[in-house]
Amino acid sequence: MPESPEETLLALDPAWSAETFAVQAGRPRRSPGAPMNEPLSLSSTYVQDATIEYARDGSASTAALEAALGALDGGRTVTFASGLAAATAIADLVPAGGTVVLSTVTYHGVKAIFARLEAAGRLRVRTAAADDTAAVLAAADGADMVWVESIANPLLVVADAPAIAAGARARGALTVVDATFATPLRQRPLDLGADVVLHSATKLIGGHSDLLLGAVACRDGVHAGAMAAFRHDHGAMPGALEAFLALRGLRTLGVRLDRAEATAGELARRLAAHPGVSAVHYPGLPGDSQHATAVRVLPRGCGSMVSFEVAGSVEETEAFLGRLRLFAHATSLGGVESLIERRARYPGDAAVVGPTLCRASIGLEHVDDLWADLDVALRAVPS
Ligand code: PLP
Repeated sequence: MPESPEETLLALDPAWSAETFAVQAGRPRRSPGAPMNEPLSLSSTYVQDATIEYARDGSASTAALEAALGALDGGRTVTFASGLAAATAIADLVPAGGTVVLSTVTYHGVKAIFARLEAAGRLRVRTAAADDTAAVLAAADGADMVWVESIANPLLVVADAPAIAAGARARGALTVVDATFATPLRQRPLDLGADVVLHSATKLIGGHSDLLLGAVACRDGVHAGAMAAFRHDHGAMPGALEAFLALRGLRTLGVRLDRAEATAGELARRLAAHPGVSAVHYPGLPGDSQHATAVRVLPRGCGSMVSFEVAGSVEETEAFLGRLRLFAHATSLGGVESLIERRARYPGDAAVVGPTLCRASIGLEHVDDLWADLDVALRAVPS
């Protein structure tokens, strides 16, 4: 049987930093001969008369991962088969006929979930710009849920999560923060007043582009119970192998993020001065319109994503992407390898980004090699 998260958490010192929690939380109890890692157990069914009798209820691997992520976020964590499976469960917290406020810049997959629910008459969607707190709160009047991303995909807009959460609470609405780009090492939204936090652990937490997994951290046990019930009833349980790999990825998140973030900041600075680039979006860049908010709500750093607009046509941008050798032209983010893509190729993003906007996920390659790749490919863009 898996240890309960409570038992595991007892060994943790609240004075430790998040990086230490990421390494130590969710491990088996220390006793002679005990393994350091929760062993991977691949079984769909268990002998009866136990808490877990079938893998749709969970596994030792998901319990260990949930203990670790819950400790990091300061709430009760429930894991899902993907970030979007987790988002679907959170959307179910909106009552029938209720209203959700979405940020204009929101991951297009999340927008699609709510658009589908709205088309079915299940709920209503209002939108507001996440960097305009007054507009978000005006839209929150009479709403049931406000959904923001700590650092929004793909324009890297930073929401003032504490102000939005306080205003939403005063209006009786739940605040959901998708902290996929920030990770629990850069922002703990529950501490900032949010009710529910979403992570696509597919990205930085897993860190190696080899799994799909989502996690929801809740302040309130009732919400956590609703997440677990939704997961069970919809069969949205992550596999034990994915949970094992996500926890292994979490162990190195601190060093990976430090490195990728430092490289992202340096590349953003260099891109801002490049004649082949017309705009850079990186909240860690002094001069970026999001910088002041970022310093306040993401004091430990702004993550490993950089978006920029190529000073040229769509065809020239595609040609630029084709010239890159080190960056792979692929979607997703948060892995050790650097990726890049033109986001307007997604209909859900085309409405909010310029046609030449490229979103880069910065990995762990050397900064000078990544820069040489970008610089050479950009120099051929006529400006
Ligand atoms: N949230 C954000 C901000 C994302 O970027 C993504 C995926 O790109 C998701 C949620 C969905 O996660 P998954 O791909 O694990 O379903």
